[in-house]
Amino acid sequence: MSDNPRMDSQKYFYYDENACELVPVHYSTVEKIIYNASLWLITGIVMAGIGITILASTAGTPAEIALKAENHVLVQQLNKTKKTITTIDTQIDSLAKTDNEIYRSVLGMKPISYGEREAGVGCADIYAKFDSYSDPAAHVLKWTAGNLESIQRKINIQKVSFSEIKNYYNKNKVRLAHTPAIRPVKGIVLSGFGMRYHPILHLRRMHEGLDFRASVGTPVYATPDGVIKYASRDGTYGNLVEINHGYGFQTRYAHLSKFAKGIRPGKKVKRGDIIAYSGDTGLTEGPHLHYEVRINGTPVNPLYYLFGDLTPEEYSSFKKISNENTSSLD
Ligand SMILES: [Zn+2]
Repeated sequence: MSDNPRMDSQKYFYYDENACELVPVHYSTVEKIIYNASLWLITGIVMAGIGITILASTAGTPAEIALKAENHVLVQQLNKTKKTITTIDTQIDSLAKTDNEIYRSVLGMKPISYGEREAGVGCADIYAKFDSYSDPAAHVLKWTAGNLESIQRKINIQKVSFSEIKNYYNKNKVRLAHTPAIRPVKGIVLSGFGMRYHPILHLRRMHEGLDFRASVGTPVYATPDGVIKYASRDGTYGNLVEINHGYGFQTRYAHLSKFAKGIRPGKKVKRGDIIAYSGDTGLTEGPHLHYEVRINGTPVNPLYYLFGDLTPEEYSSFKKISNENTSSLD
């Protein structure tokens, strides 16, 4: 008894013993549908398998695609963080500059150089571990880690510096009480120390102080403790007060409208005492206060002696005005 022999791809036959011949098998329609559907199903599965293999080799599995998207968002966020880090770094540098230029210089302490503040930063090998990531990710990770480390170091050095300044101040309280440290009037700087164009004489000459904005009658304060040396008319200075502070310091306040009650040579004053009122006496372009700081008679830039009541931002702004304004009010 033989089974259905296969003669070609389309038809099956069976052997009819009574007729002694091969007879084609007639499949029912349902059987044909099942047969064709099976063929399509198998083809579909094979094709889907090939498709998934190709997709996986180029775009990645669904889990990989999700990770790539997440990675993209993280790199973008890190790039945004770079801006914040840059801003903080600039602010710390500005603080370090003020620390050196004002606090440490004026107090007679050694400034901390930029190199010292940056010491040990920039060893690129520490971040070589990021090299295995994609280029944009490795770059932003290295940049962020490096800059955060640098900021951390600068902050630590700044903390040490401030604590040194505090100790120095506590040990030198008496001398510092006699060091100019505040603004002589509540006003902004209009013109700075150095060679300036004289508004009345129309020539460039040395401007030995700072000009502050002050309308007639604005209170003028003694900037450190001291003893009044002079309080009278003095030629182009108009009404002038000069104070002797000891430790080599003198301060001068010019173009005053009037002197405060009791201000005369020999009178002791404290920092912040009202000594006079501003005006426009003497050779001036208009009402303002001309303020000088002298060390053993030699004029120095008073901008460095305002540290007691200026924020770093105010100091920067005063310095900018002071440098940019080419003419004085005298
Ligand atoms: Zn002046």
